[in-house]
Amino acid sequence: MADIAENPGRRRGVMLVLAAPSGAGKSTIARRLLAEDPMIDLSISATTRGRRKSEEEGIHYFFLTPEAFMEKRDAGAFLEWAAVHGNFYATPRDAVERSLAAGRDVLFDIDVQGAEQLKRKMPEDVVGIFVLPPSMEALKARLNARAEDSKAAMEVRLANATGEIARWHDYEYVVINDDLDDAYDLVRSILRAERAKREYKSVIPHHVEALLGE
Ligand code: 5GP
Repeated sequence: MADIAENPGRRRGVMLVLAAPSGAGKSTIARRLLAEDPMIDLSISATTRGRRKSEEEGIHYFFLTPEAFMEKRDAGAFLEWAAVHGNFYATPRDAVERSLAAGRDVLFDIDVQGAEQLKRKMPEDVVGIFVLPPSMEALKARLNARAEDSKAAMEVRLANATGEIARWHDYEYVVINDDLDDAYDLVRSILRAERAKREYKSVIPHHVEALLGE
């Protein structure tokens, strides 16, 4: 993993994990954060899931055959991987290391199993935010509104939601997405506070030293 000791005075990047059951609004929050915050990069996952019509290779996912996925996994190319809703998903290692080494933050839109693996590997760097829907009714309605998935795929996602929600305490923060603007503001505030926390250890000591030396 990138060593911040090579960059004294620069804060170490935040690995911001956004997790949620499908339909909680996580992807909308993630998209907005990426569009509005120039300091954060998205970790683009690899998956064996078929590409949806609205998705592009290398932008939403790297779409791999199961064989190619396993080959990369065995070569150590992934920071974490998991089977989710019947497909494989993984976080490619290189891009994350490049962003962190450049002093940038990284956003992960991954499931609870992946979040747990990242946390175990990099406990100091990972900040986990779990996004909850206001009600199961709202979750169902949002899943139904997503016209791109089949009815069977939606049923699987809904059935998995209960187990995922039960893991809420694995995260540092929980955001209830009742109102999208409020939920987004809270995520931004969390990120700002976590950045400040890291500056306390990196940027601030240098600043204080300079102040006292004046
Ligand atoms: P979708 O098929 O809707 O794009 O994603 C399904 C689930 O897989 C979502 O909960 C998403 O966050 C998760 N996911 C996407 N990429 C990764 C990844 O790289 N690792 C893990 N563990 N989960 C992922």
